[in-house]
Amino acid sequence: MAPQEYSHGGVSVTEADLVDGYSAEEVFGTPGSRGFTFDDMIALPGQIDFGVEQVELNTRLTRNIKLAFPFASSPMDTVTESKMAIAMALEGCIGFIHCHCSVEQQVGLVKKVKSYENGFITEPAVMSPDALVSALDALKAERNISGVPITEDGKMGSRLVGLITKRDTDLVEDRTASLSTYMTPADSLIVGSKGISLEAAQNLLKECKKGYLPIVDDAGNLVSLTTRTDLLKSRDFPYSTKDAESNTLRCGAAVLACVEDRARIDALAAAGVDVLVIDERNGSTSAQVEQIKYVKRKHPEVEVVAGNVVTCAQARVLLDAGADALRVGMGAGSVSTTQQVKTILVTVCALLFVRAVGRAQISAVYYVSKLAAERGVPVIADGGIMNTGCATKALSLGASVVMMGGMLAATEEAPGAYFYQDGVRLKHYQATTSYQAQQRSDAPGGSMSTAYTASGVSGLVVDRGSLHRFMPYMVQSVRHGYQDLGVSALSACHADVRDGRVRFEIRSASAQKEGGVHDLHSYTRKLYA
Ligand code: 5GP
Repeated sequence: MAPQEYSHGGVSVTEADLVDGYSAEEVFGTPGSRGFTFDDMIALPGQIDFGVEQVELNTRLTRNIKLAFPFASSPMDTVTESKMAIAMALEGCIGFIHCHCSVEQQVGLVKKVKSYENGFITEPAVMSPDALVSALDALKAERNISGVPITEDGKMGSRLVGLITKRDTDLVEDRTASLSTYMTPADSLIVGSKGISLEAAQNLLKECKKGYLPIVDDAGNLVSLTTRTDLLKSRDFPYSTKDAESNTLRCGAAVLACVEDRARIDALAAAGVDVLVIDERNGSTSAQVEQIKYVKRKHPEVEVVAGNVVTCAQARVLLDAGADALRVGMGAGSVSTTQQVKTILVTVCALLFVRAVGRAQISAVYYVSKLAAERGVPVIADGGIMNTGCATKALSLGASVVMMGGMLAATEEAPGAYFYQDGVRLKHYQATTSYQAQQRSDAPGGSMSTAYTASGVSGLVVDRGSLHRFMPYMVQSVRHGYQDLGVSALSACHADVRDGRVRFEIRSASAQKEGGVHDLHSYTRKLYA
């Protein structure tokens, strides 16, 4: 077929003459041995013939786990515990629970995710009948709640004996009286049975006009609670990441590559974990190969994310061992110092520098994804995501999912409390190997040894509000990015980049400056409602 002709400034040109910029292969394959990262390059816009809502971001996390949206939360103790993993799964993404705790604690966190039911509170505040009214006052102030179920031993899972609300005690003068005197006893309460649907619970609350509906099992033990306020607020999560068979939210968890962590793997598998990530900074180790093989042999139903890797040689070892996904990134994390760290061994006044290793993140993602795609294995781009543009670049250049730490660490769902510094609402965010994280006695590998060297720092991040507002913003922004590229699906983009249809350009320092906010006296940055 003859090439299509256009008129350009009065000169007749073919379509080939209009091809601009460079293919990804030309950018990365150009001799010069430079590593590129997010700010170094930019994609050129394409032809838009579809609406932004039509952009499909569904993807694969691993060989067999699909996500509606390409985001994961990092297994760090200041990022992912059960609240974060639940919120991520509800938003069509996934969270990986960290392993900086005992096996029992990590299993407990995974179980909370697997037993979560939207609209039901599975961890309500509970008190015992012997507790004092003053203790109820303190709890109400701390948790901002107005009603508390009372069980025999004051814990979830034991027999429901009553319910106490603000109205039962607000006029009581003796705050040293016990709750049993004022509570509504269980036999006068309306309760729901375990397994009740959200709709049925909603109807029951409507009919009985009460504020609280405790849910009990056949033996009368408290299993969860629904409240009128929560039911009014509860919304549907149509994209939630669920295991179709068990209808439970998908949950990931981290393990280490050592033999000692096999008990952790077995316990997590028994708790129903869907996917394990082997959490190693440099994952190309024989210990990791053995760990992948162990999981695949002993728990074939559990998917394994292996890593971290940044080169094709490293990746091939893990692919050959049976990895279901690769986690890519070494030293790109916002709190990481891997690429600069100098391990200092003091031996009679001698200083020895032994580590300065890693790779610029976009180069790592591009090269490893190219190899992994040949084996049908997805890549997770881990670390360095500073904004939605970084996510769009990592995803278009081969990653199927981006993993984030710092971007999520100041959401309401991340562990840790907010505090104010200089009038700004903040949370702590720390690297897994930071001095502060390693001081925790339950850190993996035990307490700090004398040879310990941190490869990350501890810092503060600014409040981002609820993940249920932040993730929809991320999703919509990446959709806009794909629309500007002229590609309507994440899956199609990988092929378009490989075939050179999506074009790129390297940015000069001044181009990078031009691309940011500039020449304003001051400005406010509010990116989502
Ligand atoms: P962020 O999204 O904050 O840029 O990066 C998060 C990633 O940083 C994590 O998923 C993990 O791969 C990496 N990371 C976390 N802790 C450490 C650490 O102590 N050292 C290094 N080198 N990387 C870390």
